[in-house]
Amino acid sequence: MAAGNYRYVIVGAGSAGCVLANRLSADPACQVALLEAGEPDRRREIRIPAAFVKLFQTEYDWNYRTTKQPQLSDRELYWPRGKTLGGSSSINGQAWTRGHRADYDGWAQTCPGWSYDEVLPYFQRAERRVGSNAGGVYGTAGPQFISELRDPSPTTAAFLAACAELGLRRLGELNEPDNTGYSPTPVTQRRGLRHSASDAYLRPVRRRPNLTVLTGAHAQRILLDGTRATGVEYRDAAGVTQRITASGEVILSAGTVNSPQLLMLSGIGGADQLRTAGVEPHHDLVGVGANLQDHLACGVIVHCPKPITLVAADSPVQLVRFLLARRGMLTSSVNEAVAFVRSDPALTAPDVELVWLPVPFVGEGLTPPPGHGLTLAVEFLQPESRGDIRLASADPAEPPVIDPGYLTADSDLRGLVAGVRIAERLCDTAALRPYVGAPMAPYPGTVDDAKLETLIREYAQTAYHPVGTCRMGTDDAAVVDSQLRVRGLHGLRVVDASVMPRIVRGHTHAPTVMIAEHAADLIRASKHQPEPGPANIA
Ligand SMILES: Cc1cc2nc3c(=O)[nH]c(=O)nc-3n(C[C@H](O)[C@H](O)[C@H](O)COP(=O)(O)OP(=O)(O)OC[C@H]3O[C@@H](n4cnc5c(N)ncnc54)[C@H](O)[C@@H]3O)c2cc1C
Repeated sequence: MAAGNYRYVIVGAGSAGCVLANRLSADPACQVALLEAGEPDRRREIRIPAAFVKLFQTEYDWNYRTTKQPQLSDRELYWPRGKTLGGSSSINGQAWTRGHRADYDGWAQTCPGWSYDEVLPYFQRAERRVGSNAGGVYGTAGPQFISELRDPSPTTAAFLAACAELGLRRLGELNEPDNTGYSPTPVTQRRGLRHSASDAYLRPVRRRPNLTVLTGAHAQRILLDGTRATGVEYRDAAGVTQRITASGEVILSAGTVNSPQLLMLSGIGGADQLRTAGVEPHHDLVGVGANLQDHLACGVIVHCPKPITLVAADSPVQLVRFLLARRGMLTSSVNEAVAFVRSDPALTAPDVELVWLPVPFVGEGLTPPPGHGLTLAVEFLQPESRGDIRLASADPAEPPVIDPGYLTADSDLRGLVAGVRIAERLCDTAALRPYVGAPMAPYPGTVDDAKLETLIREYAQTAYHPVGTCRMGTDDAAVVDSQLRVRGLHGLRVVDASVMPRIVRGHTHAPTVMIAEHAADLIRASKHQPEPGPANIA
């Protein structure tokens, strides 16, 4: 079914799109259509928590590559992005981290309504915490299951003990408003299985008569009548071009790469840039695709003298444990514990995240580990480097140009070096020493700062958290206003990770779900309000 009279047409069934489809179709009077370019999320590896790297470079992955990064030895980095129901939440590492209070209070300086105290109810509305909930940090009645790992590696307990040995702060719950400290990672799992945004928000409401979900539906451009978005043109699974109309709003939830691409394909973006790509400009909005930010990751990788790491997760014993009891190594999210630390005590919020992985994570996750080993990954949380997404051509089938501009700010490299030094100290504690063997390539062991910088340039990879390319704000370069409406147009919003003005001090799935929960209220409320004039450009 294509045409139909929908009030809302949502593009992209990822972390944000699934939330919106659920919340907006809760009103039986609203017809909602959800378009997803990928196929349904049926593959077994989506359910198996530890198997997400097996989905890399399959039909469930957009399988993007960045441009050559001059500051990273001219390497083109691999960027996986989920292409199925659940989007990236169907292939991600399942960590549920909200970030730090300061992230949202920072947003609120230019975006009213997005302070920590204002967004907290939306996190909690999403959450269904299973198990401990010290201080009532989490919501307990939402759709998204948040669990502890069922069978963490013994090395993870050693990592947590190492953090204590270095005097770091043990968090009662990882998602306290100030996340400075260490903790096991809470995960989006339900009884040992991945619980994606599709599982949480879409599957339970698929039978609603007013919700239409179209898979294999690749949106090509937004249909515009003057300054109003009226629908979407897409290619269906058979390769036929179809049109779908929205009487209320078109909502882009196609993610940080594809939402700006779709705006630009529709003539919305910097006019000169659009012309260069062969697209006739319709609405000059210079910030579309700009402000790209990501967490870059590198780490300490070592051999483990004990054969107990997740390298054995594929063994028949583990498979049987998983199939019979939903237990064992296959229930691991791979990133099993984290520490958020301040590399400088003068800071008021963490600038470095250390992520404990009881496996050697090498070759961007595409190379099989060479033997038992461990990774203590380091992410610099508040990078100053900025990149952009641009059109390669006017052809919607052609991937856009992704230039994250990694390490274009020197301070980011210094932050990573500082983080690796903390990781090395942790690996040298009494708690971890029994598990830490010789360095594993490409990590060379402790070297001086200059050599470490070279190594970072040669092997750092994405931590999979790109955000910011349809930035919310009020200045001329902002793409959406604080109600997530595309500035200067009617009936068009962007709701996904791309609207974040600044990357958070944590992973990006939970903040994206929160953004969509908040957006659902904004959209429902605006149904009853007069629309702003073309000057929703502040
Ligand atoms: C390998 C990996 C590991 C990660 N690990 C973690 C983690 O442990 N914790 C965490 O918090 N975050 C993690 N993330 C990041 C997190 O999953 C994302 O930030 C989040 O899912 C982004 O949500 P989104 O709604 O913006 O986009 P997505 O979830 O990517 O959804 C976008 C959807 O739009 C669809 N789409 C795109 N273009 C079109 C089009 N033209 N027409 C129709 N449909 C379209 C896509 O197929 C996709 O389904 C990880 C990401 C990856 C890739």
